[in-house]
Amino acid sequence: MKKQNLLALAVSTVIVAATASPMMAYTLLSPRRTWATIPVTVQVNNAGNSTINDSDHGVTAVVGAIRAWGIISSSSTSSVAVRGTAPATIMLNTNGHICTGSCLAATLTGYYSGNTITDADIYTNTKYNYTSSRETDGCSGEYDIDSIMTHEVGHVIGLGHSTVAGATMYPSVAACNINNRSLEADDLAGKNDLY
Ligand SMILES: [Zn+2]
Repeated sequence: MKKQNLLALAVSTVIVAATASPMMAYTLLSPRRTWATIPVTVQVNNAGNSTINDSDHGVTAVVGAIRAWGIISSSSTSSVAVRGTAPATIMLNTNGHICTGSCLAATLTGYYSGNTITDADIYTNTKYNYTSSRETDGCSGEYDIDSIMTHEVGHVIGLGHSTVAGATMYPSVAACNINNRSLEADDLAGKNDLY
């Protein structure tokens, strides 16, 4: 199965364990930073993505999926992302001129003051086809939007990529793989480190 990258614009340095003892392998964005308060508000632009064949082109699916983190207050909105101004907004119908090539989705993680995140918007590469947890027509060569956006919202709250294969914050995913809808122990350890 072909793998596609899930990219964050700010890539954290991966720290490799120097000993044989087990270590959690999540990373945090650098500098370490968090939102000032939780829950973190994340809105999903209601234009959706036209390749998703559920009732609202993936909007309701994504609003629900990203709550997996447990510290997200999500809803749909007619507003588009405003870079640098909260709330964090997910755009499913545009690459924002930042997510091309093998990128499936990208989060703008560059908006923070000191150690406080002030905004983080997400864009989607529209050259691929996507499916959702609310689609009923099966999956063939599509990427699961629930999984992808759960990953990207990990960046929104301050996480970098994990080296643990199978973790939601692992940097790539295969078509039709839905495993990243649920968080693994490594993802939760990262969240609990921050909040
Ligand atoms: Zn990523």
